[in-house]
Amino acid sequence: MMLNIAVTPNPNPAPKPEGDPGFGRVYTDHMFRMDYTEGIGWHDARIVPYGPIELEPSAMVLHYAQENFEGLKAYRTPDGGIQLFRPEENAARMAASCQRMCMPIIKPALWIEAVRRLVDIDRDWVPHQPGMSLYIRPFIIATEPHLGVRAARQYSFMIILSPVGNYYPTGMNPVKIYVETHYVRAVRGGTGTAKCGGNYAAGLKAQAEAQQAGYQQVLWLDGIEQKYIEEVGAMNVFFKIDGNIITPELQGSILPGITRKSCIEILSDWGYTVEERRLSLEEVAEAADEGRLEEAFGTGTAAVISPIGELRAAERQIFIGERIGPLSQRLYDELTGIQWGLRPDTRGWTQRV
Ligand SMILES: *Cc1c(COP(=O)(O)O)cnc(C)c1O
Repeated sequence: MMLNIAVTPNPNPAPKPEGDPGFGRVYTDHMFRMDYTEGIGWHDARIVPYGPIELEPSAMVLHYAQENFEGLKAYRTPDGGIQLFRPEENAARMAASCQRMCMPIIKPALWIEAVRRLVDIDRDWVPHQPGMSLYIRPFIIATEPHLGVRAARQYSFMIILSPVGNYYPTGMNPVKIYVETHYVRAVRGGTGTAKCGGNYAAGLKAQAEAQQAGYQQVLWLDGIEQKYIEEVGAMNVFFKIDGNIITPELQGSILPGITRKSCIEILSDWGYTVEERRLSLEEVAEAADEGRLEEAFGTGTAAVISPIGELRAAERQIFIGERIGPLSQRLYDELTGIQWGLRPDTRGWTQRV
């Protein structure tokens, strides 16, 4: 099914950034928008100049946080083309987030079509420099003007684009992580599996305190016993112990990352055993004490692979390494190789725009 999209070209296209644009600071000339009205469904798909949006102060998203978002990238390939990485996974995850938040879903084929059309219109914004890409941020907000808690009857789906720099301009240096034992991010039955802004607002306090103490990220433990490892900041987390790979299972409070899923598939293809199971901080600490903890890394669209050098828990410090581990590096090279079209995509993960 083709989406009928009205296009209003930007009369004042902005100059493309010279050099490194950083992350999430610069936006392209256009954005996608489509509205939802109960009884009508999704309507008025359009691409318009990027700019401020009008909302009533009583818009329900501003009071009850009914919204969710996605994050993916468009990559410039060596032949000058552009490709997306597993966009159908993002479309499906947004549909799942919408269901959790009582919001109307968008059919994945239409969702992907909207992303493709917008990227195509702003295709000159996809950077050519190595390591840089175009970050794609689709999101849905409840726009109905209404005070009173219930699911809204009006929504807007929007997509904005932002050229982003190399996540590792000075090389992949392992990060220091603070193990959070006071605050929690999510509990089973909550919204941890949905990519919704409320989860991030709830995590800001821990993030700020960790940064003040000199740590770059927070490692979240389970919200009930605070014993089992869940995620690192906005990344899923993997450990290599005794040659095996372990990542926390998706038990209902962890965000199902697409980079996580891709790493599991690649590692299995390489012959590794990947255990998706409950993993306590104690088990990791013991493995470290006995010299069996080989590597640890976070996974997510922004950084791809983020090596962990040190975990600081209340009573103990776990040192992992001052340099990226060989498996973390190999995974990074394979994933980024596929994403930028430098390595063959044997799994059908990429699609050209
Ligand atoms: C987006 C996100 C991730 C990573 O997901 P990817 O699909 O790999 O980018 C992990 N944890 C949280 C909390 C997230 O919001």
